[in-house]
Amino acid sequence: MKKALFLFIILPILLFADEYKKVTLQLNWLNQFQFAGYYVAKEKGFYKDVGLDVDIKEYTFNTDLVNSIKTKKADFAIGRSSLLIEKAKGEDVVALGAIFQESPLMLLVRKDSHIVSVRDLKDKKIMITPDAAFSASLLAMLSANGLNKNDFTIQRHSFKLDDLISRNTDAMASYLSNEPINLDEKEIKYKIFKPKDYGFDFYSDILFTSNSFIINNPKITKDFYEASIKGWKYAFEHKAETAEIIYKKYNSQNKSYIHLIKEGEILEKLAYANNTDIGDISNKKLQSIFNVFKLFGLVKNDIDIDSFIYDENPHKTMNLEISPAKQKLFFIILFFIIIVFLIVLFILKKNKQLKEQLQTVIDATDDFILYKDNKFRYLGCNKSFEKFVGKKKPEIIGKNDFELFSKEYAKLFRKRDMEAINLNSIQINHECVIYENKKIILQSKVIPFKYKKTKKEGILAICRDITELHEAHEKLKKEAYHDELTNIFNRKAFNERIEEKFDLYYRYKNEFCIAMYDIDDFKYINDTFGHDIGDRVLIDMTKYIKQHIRKTDFIFRVGGEEFVILFPKTLLEEALVVIEKIRVDVSNMNLVENKKVTISIGITQVRENDTPASIYERIDKLMYVSKHEGKNRTSKD
Ligand code: GH3
Ligand code: MG
Ligand code: MG
Repeated sequence: MKKALFLFIILPILLFADEYKKVTLQLNWLNQFQFAGYYVAKEKGFYKDVGLDVDIKEYTFNTDLVNSIKTKKADFAIGRSSLLIEKAKGEDVVALGAIFQESPLMLLVRKDSHIVSVRDLKDKKIMITPDAAFSASLLAMLSANGLNKNDFTIQRHSFKLDDLISRNTDAMASYLSNEPINLDEKEIKYKIFKPKDYGFDFYSDILFTSNSFIINNPKITKDFYEASIKGWKYAFEHKAETAEIIYKKYNSQNKSYIHLIKEGEILEKLAYANNTDIGDISNKKLQSIFNVFKLFGLVKNDIDIDSFIYDENPHKTMNLEISPAKQKLFFIILFFIIIVFLIVLFILKKNKQLKEQLQTVIDATDDFILYKDNKFRYLGCNKSFEKFVGKKKPEIIGKNDFELFSKEYAKLFRKRDMEAINLNSIQINHECVIYENKKIILQSKVIPFKYKKTKKEGILAICRDITELHEAHEKLKKEAYHDELTNIFNRKAFNERIEEKFDLYYRYKNEFCIAMYDIDDFKYINDTFGHDIGDRVLIDMTKYIKQHIRKTDFIFRVGGEEFVILFPKTLLEEALVVIEKIRVDVSNMNLVENKKVTISIGITQVRENDTPASIYERIDKLMYVSKHEGKNRTSKD
């Protein structure tokens, strides 16, 4: 009886214990509030609720995050935006979500070190985590300030702030939410260099795993992600309780309770930055981060960003717009693939008849198709290519580009072929060449391929004349950014241009001014004189104003009778003179008979912490101040 009772009690416990699936989460730093959501999910039982037993592993010097996922030492890990570089290198990484929308990673220096700008770090010692890609945003910031790897000494990160305090290093890669708090406590003055201030706005703490893990464990992945996000929300809503959990159970760094709370406050702002939710991850932002990596040579080939984002992320923002040009490109690529397939068949099959049939197929296309051996000598081509070269196949086979084309073209083709071989990947290039006395744009796709049973590798190229498509694309682009009536830029163009101006402002402190004007009583003009006269007013007034601003200034029609003028590299006093002259001139123009047409204006200069949205809101409000104060006037701020 006792035995039965024992089994009755113990068995379910054993079964229940077995039910929990063990998973491991690898952190990318030492324990602190930075990982609060995960500790909370574990301690408050959010993981257990979904049947998971999560082991949270702290970072050590030898931890290679991507490798730990690859070798299955961990199921999930935390990485930074530099994961995109790993993805481009062919690593199997998938981002489940971004915890911090804005990165806390920055460079910290002592204020009394006399390092006042990033440029002053030349020939100085900088302490950074060993993995260069890991610190990409910092390196990008240094590089944007003219400092490349040879201009400073990289020291292995000791994770000891004392090294900065005792000047063993000049600058230390740090977290906004950590080291500054410690320095404040010690009353040591410091200075911070944030990559974001130089235009490198990265995500931080991306929770990631591999696609193969997701495929094999879809439910675990989804449950783990959702429980983690739940943990994060709870952590920020209950900072005091969370700080206590960390203080008691995850305090390997011996942080004070107050320190942990302060850390939580700073991180909460970063997690919800840009009005987004925790976990939010956008294709657009990742693409712009990727572009930065590309600009600094950290990645060579493009990647499919969508495949980097976890499909089940509820906040995944995809790039769903497929423009007509993209659709065409898609069909071109599809066509290429079919041709490649046929050609591969053609090369592999010895069958003469099949060869002849395939030759007929490739001869039927207007695209130039050619393939070369490992010394870049022609092995074969189609009729269109013969026409392009101006020679028949027997004269082409066995020759290289230097024997067939001018030195300029031969160099161009050789470079592109070498790239495909060296990178061992398909290269798509655009080349501008003269063909039949016309300048044409060729889109060439170069594919490395093994052309013999031996391991020798040559290339296969398919080149298409995309001149018309290119022109159509340019025309579409122009139309997309232009207002038809007034023939000036439209709101879409404004949105892009203003981003650019902000970029220059935060990177190089290029000041700029911006004005908004709206025609007064325009409805009355339409109603009294007719819509056509209204249109005429818009056209004539715009023409006049366009002629009376500098060539470097831009005018945009942002609404029906609302316009914006951008004055790059201009201070408010100067811009005010111009806009006031315009206002007075407009009121004196004879735009409509016996009716004075006036405009109300709001103008301002960019300032620290402004964003495109904040500055737009300011000029809009200022313009309305002018309206309320009686119209035909300018309000500034
Ligand atoms: P306020 O001084 O307060 O700006 O008054 P308003 O009458 O100018 O302002 P409201 O916004 O009421 O009217 C703007 C008018 O502009 C309404 C709309 O019909 C007209 N409008 C917008 N786009 C065009 C256009 O392309 N051509 C013409 N003729 N009229 C336009
Ligand atoms: Mg108006
Ligand atoms: Mg209006």
